[in-house]
Amino acid sequence: MKEAEIIIIGGGLSGTSTALNLSKKGYSVLVIEKEITENIKPCAGGMASSMTKYLPLDIEKAIESKIRNVEFRWEASDNVKADLSGESPFWIVKREKLDQLLLEEALKNGIELVSPAKVEKIIKENDKWIINCNNNHQYKSELLVIADGSQSKWAGHFNLGPRKPKFANTIALRIKGSGFIPKDTVRFEFGFVKNGFAWAFPLKESVNIGIGTFINNRRLGDEKTNHRILKSFGFNDLSYKATKRKLRIWNGFHKLNGDKVLVVGDAASLCDPFLAEGIRPSLLSSFYAAESIDQCLSGKADNLNEYTTNLNKKWSQSMVWGARIAQVFYRFPKTGYELGVKRKTAPKRIAQILSGEMTYEDIAKRVIKRLLIKNNT
Ligand SMILES: Cc1cc2nc3c(=O)[nH]c(=O)nc-3n(C[C@H](O)[C@H](O)[C@H](O)COP(=O)(O)OP(=O)(O)OC[C@H]3O[C@@H](n4cnc5c(N)ncnc54)[C@H](O)[C@@H]3O)c2cc1C
Repeated sequence: MKEAEIIIIGGGLSGTSTALNLSKKGYSVLVIEKEITENIKPCAGGMASSMTKYLPLDIEKAIESKIRNVEFRWEASDNVKADLSGESPFWIVKREKLDQLLLEEALKNGIELVSPAKVEKIIKENDKWIINCNNNHQYKSELLVIADGSQSKWAGHFNLGPRKPKFANTIALRIKGSGFIPKDTVRFEFGFVKNGFAWAFPLKESVNIGIGTFINNRRLGDEKTNHRILKSFGFNDLSYKATKRKLRIWNGFHKLNGDKVLVVGDAASLCDPFLAEGIRPSLLSSFYAAESIDQCLSGKADNLNEYTTNLNKKWSQSMVWGARIAQVFYRFPKTGYELGVKRKTAPKRIAQILSGEMTYEDIAKRVIKRLLIKNNT
């Protein structure tokens, strides 16, 4: 039976980045991934450049566009623009390339990848995890990282994250050409999608388009609406191949670690419930997972509790406000658009959230402060 200090279930963004962080610290790591390759990852690739501080490698090769403007539209009209050329820019990365870079670097650092192999059963024996896969092999480890994404089977098995996860329904497509989307601009399209929005993020030779609904588990897939959205982004060839995905979104403070086990990325329900941002929490959770595992395995900590504490502080505290904003915004989208986008400073604030310069919590505190001052005068 093959043995490693840490086994990671899932070789997506959070699995490979956790593997890389741990391999840099000198641990033996085995990643188990059920798929061989996925040609196009259903992810628009929008990423705050400030996140590179959580990545121990240069990802320049994966960056396809550096964004300077954010555009907002209501049913294809009403052009609202925000400048995004601040201190920390927003990038569009090709997710397949980013994941590949991370994996290659982790493999160079000595991690092992078992693929294709699906984890089917996990038991604990003599304080070690025994993992059974559908390739009829067993693997053994001291610590376990759950990184099996939004369809996670194992987070619930270990009672990690919300007992009843919340999902956004999404559609992803990549279309050749650029349509009406300039290379340095991302566009958000409101009004066409009930309880959600559509987005267009430019790559070098194509555009990543996403459509998502964020509350009430509202379904997508009405062809007529999708065609209107594509036309609004400047595409007339409607013979696209779309991928539907359910995306776990943030849904409260929950325990993200157990005894020698923790959960990272989408499996931990960390995705921003307002803007579907999942790359940032994947990289954050992978970074703090590796820190806590290191503390635990080197004897500096008795358990992995610090991991949950860090994620609550560094991410969930802001997501509380993201979830509140989403509930109001997507329930009353026209009012949300008028107040949240059309207000003079609003587009700039959304741009600052995307680039990581501000959090939802910062914005909420500013609004509360403004209201208090107004009420006292
Ligand atoms: C349409 C769409 C657009 C998006 N756009 C953006 C964006 O622009 N910016 C942004 O920040 N975020 C975006 N996101 C979110 C982002 O893609 C995710 O948050 C990110 O992919 C999470 O990575 P992960 O590694 O946690 O999960 P995944 O990438 O889903 O990886 C999980 C891996 O686990 C494997 N696995 C599952 N079960 C098993 C098993 N039993 N055994 C072995 N392996 C298993 C899977 O095959 C998979 O490779 C978008 C998401 C969607 C759906």
